[in-house]
Amino acid sequence: MNDRAGKLGRKIHDDMAGLVREMLSRKPGGHLIEPTLKDIVLELAVSVNDAEGSALRFSADLIRDIDRVLDDAIQHVAMFRPGRTFCHRCGGPECEHAEPPSSRHVFAGYRPTGTPVWKDFAQLCLEERHEQVDRLYDDKPAFLTLVREPEALRLDLLPAFRAKGYRLHGQVTAGFYTVPGNTAAGRTVLALTFQVASASGSGGRKRFGLNILGHTPQEGPFPWHRAVQWTQSALATLGRSRQDDLDHRVEGILSGLARRLQQEQRSRGRRTRHAEERHGSGNRPTRKALEDLEEAGGDDFCLDERNGTLVVLGQRGRTHFFSADGRLVSSVRYSRDAIEGKLKNRLWRKAAETEIDTVRKKVAARDGDSVS
Ligand SMILES: [Zn+2]
Repeated sequence: MNDRAGKLGRKIHDDMAGLVREMLSRKPGGHLIEPTLKDIVLELAVSVNDAEGSALRFSADLIRDIDRVLDDAIQHVAMFRPGRTFCHRCGGPECEHAEPPSSRHVFAGYRPTGTPVWKDFAQLCLEERHEQVDRLYDDKPAFLTLVREPEALRLDLLPAFRAKGYRLHGQVTAGFYTVPGNTAAGRTVLALTFQVASASGSGGRKRFGLNILGHTPQEGPFPWHRAVQWTQSALATLGRSRQDDLDHRVEGILSGLARRLQQEQRSRGRRTRHAEERHGSGNRPTRKALEDLEEAGGDDFCLDERNGTLVVLGQRGRTHFFSADGRLVSSVRYSRDAIEGKLKNRLWRKAAETEIDTVRKKVAARDGDSVS
């Protein structure tokens, strides 16, 4: 009997897994989640008294629930692509409109038919009559931030072209950062757009994300890193707030982000001067970073998809970033939630064994170099 029940259970499982795969294969956008979809959670009501039509109802409910779970997952992935904004005209972040055309460009709103408008940051500051706009053209450009409310950003967007499910809750534009680049001076200026947006699934549940738009360098340390970390943990508390409270709270978070970006730039300016004074100290991995790298197991490695750095999750929240050629880019402390958030938002993925090995070897080679 037990044997029979077990066999029947396995068959039901296999049949249901087959059904999910079948439905997934017919969904537009199904390919976006297929590689990462592991299991789905369903609530099922099975009628045992043979009531009329119960099998029919069961089937309809089952298919509707699977449909909803898959739609939610696809919608979330489709709306949040790191580094790209949402194009209402094309209904996603995949088109050529979704990316800034140069490192100076920031998001400035939507055209009536839904394509994003990108503007030179200095031009935008000029239009906004920012009092320090002249200083953006200095040799060492000033660092300015602009906080925008969502209404201002979708002012021109016609209601008929608004895609359902995606909502932009506001943004901070910031610039100029000075980053390595292929200009004559070896440096180039960079402006960024930090957008807070949400996607609501068919169940009406909102998921918030912070997206950074801009031509960011291949590897850190990124001077906006701490501010972004703070923002992400602040956004994680938003799910519980009431609708009428929401805009107000997002506005508060965006001002907090702008303030932190400013602070980081100021203290970075001081640190850079110090570093220039004692140049040559380089990027020697700290002892702790090397220890954590040594002790880390396969599950403690992630890869930051945006820049290819290997993330090593060490003891007590210590998190180290190694470039593909084995340099320690930075070490920070991350909460468990922050780490899970990165993985959930697909900014990080689990690293492959070959990726881990490569970096380990390069780090060892470097460490040897600097000793001899
Ligand atoms: Zn488009």
